[in-house]
Amino acid sequence: MDNQYYAGIDLGGTSIKMGICSPDGQIICEREQATPQGHYENVLEAFQQMLHQLLAEAELSPKDLAGVGVGVPALLDVEQGNVYEIVNLGWKNVPLKAELEKRLGLPSYVDNDANTAALGEMWQGAGKCSRHLICITVGTGIGGGLIINGDIYHGALGLAGEIGHMTIRPEGGLLCNCGKPGCLETETSATAIAYYGRKAVDEQQETRLTQTLKQQGVITAKDVIDAARSGDVVSVKILHHVGYYLGLALAQMSNVLNPEKIVIGGGVSKAGDFFLEPIRENFIKYALNKVSETTDIVPATLGNKAGWLGAAWLVHRNSRPGQNGGK
Ligand SMILES: [Zn+2]
Repeated sequence: MDNQYYAGIDLGGTSIKMGICSPDGQIICEREQATPQGHYENVLEAFQQMLHQLLAEAELSPKDLAGVGVGVPALLDVEQGNVYEIVNLGWKNVPLKAELEKRLGLPSYVDNDANTAALGEMWQGAGKCSRHLICITVGTGIGGGLIINGDIYHGALGLAGEIGHMTIRPEGGLLCNCGKPGCLETETSATAIAYYGRKAVDEQQETRLTQTLKQQGVITAKDVIDAARSGDVVSVKILHHVGYYLGLALAQMSNVLNPEKIVIGGGVSKAGDFFLEPIRENFIKYALNKVSETTDIVPATLGNKAGWLGAAWLVHRNSRPGQNGGK
């Protein structure tokens, strides 16, 4: 039967991940390659080539596809599929949906990459079968996606879900890239964890991170987590600081949104319960009792497949109107 499969693309500043899946989200095949630089046509060309390679590998033809979805690291007009800007790639005002449809001859859908990652986790990952989710990615920055009633919540202009820029420390907080002080991102991202590790060394606190800095010349979030795991008191304190602000922020969001689950992804979440436990403790402390009793905080499970699978779900949603949501 025609139109049985979905293609999904996760466009990143350094790599493109693309895959084909069945209507129930089973991965048929996937691949990854470096993102071409220069004019955006180069990226479209790469999309086209990768799709042909995947179709050949799966022994499918373009008419077997119901469409293609793309997650992009940018703010965009979701309805029109117009990307406002991707700074890393030098894109400005690219009509991505229209260009893709012209080039691939398939219905195309575009959303922000944090949103597609959230949709991926809802469809096939840690949020499977949930219709109300808060998804948060703790990496270089803090990304987020809100899933309400089984679909992403975009807000009036597509700006919803900017969890990283919740003001969490209005007095004495660090200045964020967005220009405002005390954002969640400045206190709890991997960048923040590394910053606080380095600060402790500079202040000559007693920590094994001093040795790490001597050996490597740099301290990463992973170094702080590893040191905490081996009992370094200063590093444990840094993770508790992070847990306090993340727990507090997620409690406030949950009191407003009442999610079934909170899914935490990104590089830092690989530390598992060791990272999640201080978050849970503070979540319980600040959320309404009934909310904290009924909201699970869980690690994301799809890793870097979440983005392209969630992008493929955009095709699923549009192929089956009215039946969306965790299925
Ligand atoms: Zn900010």
